[in-house]
Amino acid sequence: MKTHWIPSLRVKEALAICGSLSEPGKMPCHGYALPAQRCRLGSFLQQLPTSICHYCYALRGRYVFRKVQAAMEKRIESLSDPRWVDAITTLIHRSGDRYFRWHDSGDLQSLDHLGKIIQVCRNLPRIKFWLPTREYQTVEAYRRLGGRIPTNLCIRLSAHLIGGRLPGPKSASTRSWRSKRCAFARARLARL
Ligand code: SF4
Repeated sequence: MKTHWIPSLRVKEALAICGSLSEPGKMPCHGYALPAQRCRLGSFLQQLPTSICHYCYALRGRYVFRKVQAAMEKRIESLSDPRWVDAITTLIHRSGDRYFRWHDSGDLQSLDHLGKIIQVCRNLPRIKFWLPTREYQTVEAYRRLGGRIPTNLCIRLSAHLIGGRLPGPKSASTRSWRSKRCAFARARLARL
């Protein structure tokens, strides 16, 4: 794995590979949006009226405009491109943002997807990344396989049900992902 990332793509090339960054509302930074219809767990939870996904904002409003949907489909298809990490690293690097939110729409697609996101975070250690997710098992699998979460990535596990609790709140692993560092990152974002 690279320890020191050096830009090798132009912005135009990066855009052609991974698609554009998103501009989530109420956030002081760019994000990356995937189609909510393709959420692995979320697409099941959407059927459940007591779940948060049932009321997902990314299933309505501007997110369902044809152009926006096409852009998100292009992004999700690009995840398998071997140049994806370099491409998205380039776009985030060039954005000048100090913060970045993964998935203002959509969620983790696989262990490989999480690994790529983590590599992007490692490439850009001065940027604070925020990754809300309902894919607890993917994060747990990554960790059990010996993967380490970089200090500039805040993974926030989101509850499935309205008023619901996170599963396994007593586990050390869950506690670590909901660490003071995450609270600090959220506070910083809120102040901007
Ligand atoms: S996981 Fe997030 S993006 Fe996906 S359906 Fe649920 S709330 Fe929406």
